[in-house]
Amino acid sequence: MSLQQELHYGHFIDGQDYLGHTPESIDVINPANGEVYATMSMGDKGDVDAAVAAAKRAFNQPSWREMSNNDRGDLLFKCGQVIGAHAEELMFIESRDSGGTIRRAAGMDIPIVIDLIGYYADLIKTTNNIVDLPTKPLPEAGHAQVWQEPIGVCALITPWNFPIFIAVAKIIPALAAGNTVVIKPSEYTPASTTHLVQLLSDVLPKGVLNVVNGDGASVGEALTTHPDVGKVSFTGSTCVGKHIQKMATESCKLVGLELGGKGPAIVMKDADLDLAAYGITFGGLFNSGQACESGTRILVHEAIHDQLMEKLAAVCDTLVVGNPLDPATSYGPIANKNQYDRIMGYIDGAKQQGLTFVCGGEPIKPKGFEGGYYVQPTIITDVKNDMDIAQQEIFGPVLSVIKFSDEQQAIEIANETSYGLSAGVWSDDLVHAQKIAKQLQAGSIWINDWHMLRSDAPFGGYKNSGIGREFGIAGLQAFMQTKTIGVSLERDPRNKMMWSLLHTSPQQ
Ligand code: NDP
Repeated sequence: MSLQQELHYGHFIDGQDYLGHTPESIDVINPANGEVYATMSMGDKGDVDAAVAAAKRAFNQPSWREMSNNDRGDLLFKCGQVIGAHAEELMFIESRDSGGTIRRAAGMDIPIVIDLIGYYADLIKTTNNIVDLPTKPLPEAGHAQVWQEPIGVCALITPWNFPIFIAVAKIIPALAAGNTVVIKPSEYTPASTTHLVQLLSDVLPKGVLNVVNGDGASVGEALTTHPDVGKVSFTGSTCVGKHIQKMATESCKLVGLELGGKGPAIVMKDADLDLAAYGITFGGLFNSGQACESGTRILVHEAIHDQLMEKLAAVCDTLVVGNPLDPATSYGPIANKNQYDRIMGYIDGAKQQGLTFVCGGEPIKPKGFEGGYYVQPTIITDVKNDMDIAQQEIFGPVLSVIKFSDEQQAIEIANETSYGLSAGVWSDDLVHAQKIAKQLQAGSIWINDWHMLRSDAPFGGYKNSGIGREFGIAGLQAFMQTKTIGVSLERDPRNKMMWSLLHTSPQQ
């Protein structure tokens, strides 16, 4: 066994590494070459019980519960410093785990994670958890306060496309609000999240942040149904999200769902076509197209269709697909074999339908990485909006192009989808583009760009793309619950108007 294969990712519970109470483990595969590089403990309900119990104990510690918002903010800043100090190793682990490029990890994941932590650290320091409502006037004087409180133990269930980024985007607001956490990363990508939690344990009190590795059917479901879990925050497929919501209903848990998308990008006649060609490929092919908010339905005015297709093919020709650790690589492998097979299945279906491939449509075997899961940048045109490749989330480097002849038709096609996460407009008329944006049914609309995520801007879906918002103030409030405290200042029972509904002759 090579040194690399001796790597094992277990759980992290109550401030320490924990192998789990059963010896079961599975292989972890590097999608860049298809080789096993580590093993991972397969947790079960017993491990989830241990992690939730640790998180519950930590939540009930006065030192955590009574911590001031100022101190909590300082603690979060320290988390950011830890990540900054270990950025290089986290980037490497993330790339080997998920196939994301080192260029992405260095240029996006680490900077955005540090920015997000700084944002929530600042936000919690200036958050007043108690708001006074106006005092009610005499004769029945009273006043009320609205308190924002943590929920308790929060279960975070995360996918494989941006493991660190999505984990941090949930962990940090959950901790900022005063909760404690049990996180379950995808079984395809246990490494970066487990390592991140181990690193953060240097600054966080024990039990505040725990990881249980394993699959969705056992660990995910045990978390979702656990009576001591107050909230489940999930990112992943719409199908699993709906299932989680149903299961969580049994114990009335709060649920946050960040689900799939099929983002329409409307390219108007007046768009700058060079800008659009680079932007559409960035919007749809970044991270091998494995991003929920990707723009994957490209609605193009018929007058500019042929010209734009030429430009898109030329831009795709410049993309370098291969070794994710090479800084020159545009995008790396698909994150796992299942997903690769799904994508190739959609491509084969489009071929069988006789659709027109502007470019791509084949797997790639980069030299030295023949065992990895690589797919060419693929653009398919003459697509009708009711076809599978226009309606299903492919989650790969595959763009479907649909022609339109007038603006209203484009807006209708854009909205004819069960999803509603992202949408966009490419146009030189910014005022008019905003009028179109108003009519698009999606949580984020981008004009002349894509993936414009910001720490302070709420992000989430309309329709089947989810429930709730992450990032921004909404992202913090999603991890809080509201309590109202009413204080009556009226000492004379005869003046308490509601009491007269029961008492006929109250005495002073
Ligand atoms: P899933 O939705 O299955 O996985 C996301 C997370 O949910 C993983 O941690 C998974 O665990 C967990 N999970 C799976 N089943 C359950 C369950 N019954 N209860 C609780 N948790 C569960 O996504 P896939 O990995 O299967 O990808 C399939 C498709 O989902 C993709 O093709 C893409 O369309 C979409 N997707 C969307 C993402 C997004 O960002 N919105 C991210 C990833 C995928 P485990 O995998 O370990 O079993």
